[in-house]
Amino acid sequence: MAAKDLKFNTKTIHGGQQPDEAYGAVMPPIYQTSTYAQTTPGGHKGYEYSRSANPTRTALENSLASIEGGEFGLAFGSGLAAIDAVMKLLQPGDEVISTNDLYGGSYRIFKKIFENFGIVFHFVGMQSADAIQDKINSKTKLIWVETPTNPMMNIIDVKAVAMLIKDKDILLAVDNTFATPYLQLPLELGADIVMHSATKYLGGHSDTVVGALVVKGKELADRLYFIQNASGAVCGPMDSFLVLRGIKTLHVRMQRHCENGRAIAKFLKSNPKVEEVYWPGFEDHPNHDVAKEQMKDFGGMISFVPKGSSYNDTIKIVERLQIFTLAESLGGVESLAGHPASMTHASIPKEERLKIGIVDSLIRLSVGIEDVNDLIADLEQAIG
Ligand SMILES: *Cc1c(COP(=O)(O)O)cnc(C)c1O
Repeated sequence: MAAKDLKFNTKTIHGGQQPDEAYGAVMPPIYQTSTYAQTTPGGHKGYEYSRSANPTRTALENSLASIEGGEFGLAFGSGLAAIDAVMKLLQPGDEVISTNDLYGGSYRIFKKIFENFGIVFHFVGMQSADAIQDKINSKTKLIWVETPTNPMMNIIDVKAVAMLIKDKDILLAVDNTFATPYLQLPLELGADIVMHSATKYLGGHSDTVVGALVVKGKELADRLYFIQNASGAVCGPMDSFLVLRGIKTLHVRMQRHCENGRAIAKFLKSNPKVEEVYWPGFEDHPNHDVAKEQMKDFGGMISFVPKGSSYNDTIKIVERLQIFTLAESLGGVESLAGHPASMTHASIPKEERLKIGIVDSLIRLSVGIEDVNDLIADLEQAIG
């Protein structure tokens, strides 16, 4: 059967994978080597230096391409290294339109690094197509979408954004870290580039930092491969192995993340001590219809605001949590809680944060795959 015809739950395990030729190892060996013997100058088996390519990384890159429905995958030393590579496709004077409510580190690399190189960024609320349309001009070269957004859980209609730029020379990149290809396939919706912090759900066990890009089309893949090799922010063989192992259970973990997420979102919404819950699965979520159309389920990321809670009260709530660990990051098997204003989004100026709803009392949960009753009991005692 052609690999592209496999169902998603088979692709996570077999997609892009070949049995090891040397000894038939079922798991891809960790090729912990920087270089490869040549029989004559240029006489090698496809690998000459591990920045350019490494067989364990190739296995991961093929798996990434398979699960995202793309043709080419590229693995990097972190999600931000993957974003860095995409930005290096641009020239000074080029303009980028980005989601305004996005991962703090993405905002930081755009504003603090690439603005210095003459790239112009516009941050807009992409739930409205008009807001994007207003910023498109002849210099626009890239649209950067994150959906669901972090931490406000807004949903952006990727297909609608792709339609806006259909006949234009503008790339559409989607950060698919929160949703994962289990929930949505941006390339099918019209994106040119899918980006991942594989540190999160793809790796799934909070044990490594890795980034990824997946694209269709050899020309774009070649340009990105050139940057990956020339800039050198690749991930190592051990990290490649860990993410590959994570991907094999992605579909099983995501199913449970979604189930637990749904139960916790409903618990929080019905709790009188909670003011607001942000989760795209609620029918009254402003972009619920798009979420239902674009995503298979609603994921395990939830943000909420405890009622009448000051900055300090909020800190106390997150400190009282016992099963939810107070930590940066998300997407692991264990549940994590974060306080965006002081943690993940501290690099965004307060006025900017408040404009998009990141109040001082916002708490973000990455719901893990533990027993949901224990998770609910933990939240109940912490909210008090
Ligand atoms: C974590 C994260 C990143 C950055 O990835 P790293 O692996 O930490 O470099 C980018 N986007 C989103 C949505 C993230 O959650």
